[in-house]
Amino acid sequence: MRAMILSAPRQPLRLVELPMPKPNFGQVLIRVHACAICRTDLHIVDGELTHPKLPLVLGHQIVGTIEAIADGVDKFSVGQRVGVPWLGHTCDRCRYCLSGRENLCDYAEFTGYNLDGGYAEYTVADHRFCFPLDPSYPDLQAAPLLCGGLIGYRAYSMTGDAQTLGFYGFGSSAHILIQLACHQKRQVFAFTRSGDVQGQEFARQLGAVWAGDSDVLPPEPLDAAIIFAPVGKLVPTALRAVAKGGVVVCAGIHMSEIPAFPYEILWEERVLRSVANLTRQDGEEFLALAPQIPIHTEINAFPLTQANEALDALRSGKIEGSAVLVVD
Ligand SMILES: [Zn+2]
Ligand SMILES: [Zn+2]
Repeated sequence: MRAMILSAPRQPLRLVELPMPKPNFGQVLIRVHACAICRTDLHIVDGELTHPKLPLVLGHQIVGTIEAIADGVDKFSVGQRVGVPWLGHTCDRCRYCLSGRENLCDYAEFTGYNLDGGYAEYTVADHRFCFPLDPSYPDLQAAPLLCGGLIGYRAYSMTGDAQTLGFYGFGSSAHILIQLACHQKRQVFAFTRSGDVQGQEFARQLGAVWAGDSDVLPPEPLDAAIIFAPVGKLVPTALRAVAKGGVVVCAGIHMSEIPAFPYEILWEERVLRSVANLTRQDGEEFLALAPQIPIHTEINAFPLTQANEALDALRSGKIEGSAVLVVD
């Protein structure tokens, strides 16, 4: 099969021929149709997330059909379309797994990081972590739901019943979650890179009541904010934008250093927290909700062989919505 592989951090991916992967006990073999690109992929390529499996096939927003099934697979059948997310394996025994927090499992393995992912024609996955996908979504449009959507949904859930929400960074996750927020009659304030007029217009088209530069305060104090951009200096900025009792959620897996800030901007019961990974329950809830609203994803398609160009476009902020690799 053809695959784009990462041999070492800070090197471009290389197109290679690899042997077809074989599904082990409990795994399915999947013919990949599409794989969306996540900012986490950039953090792995850029060496900001350390110790990936090497060489590595990146990609953890995989849509494909099941080609073969190994022993120990008790749901799914050959020919069925599935989605594969970031969480690829948990131990089922540690104190996190046993308390409904498998996203924090001590022995978790992640697709496209510790396990080979979807920048390839075929992949294998533990069937217990695959999701069936609603037929109303074509392959390319379904792919960004699998991380941008469902880890974004986990971050969104941490904002409780906030009526006014700030989104810092208006990329794949934000363009999906704003649709859920509008459906629930919440008001979204979108913050983009300084001077990104196009990004701000995109946010308004999707229903933002206000859009502006990230270093500007919103016109009113917000109930909560989610920081999607991997930029540590946005933490004090967002704390200053939320009202008393407000929550600031850091949704990314990596962030540049957070500058020191005065206690008074955290005071009055403001909460600062991060979100890590996903549980299968997050996935099931979000993938059931998305077609009901319905959430539409705006995609920028690239062929598999142009994965490097797609990563560069994401890095330089040229993607509106989600970048998706078309594999077959
Ligand atoms: Zn565990
Ligand atoms: Zn991701």
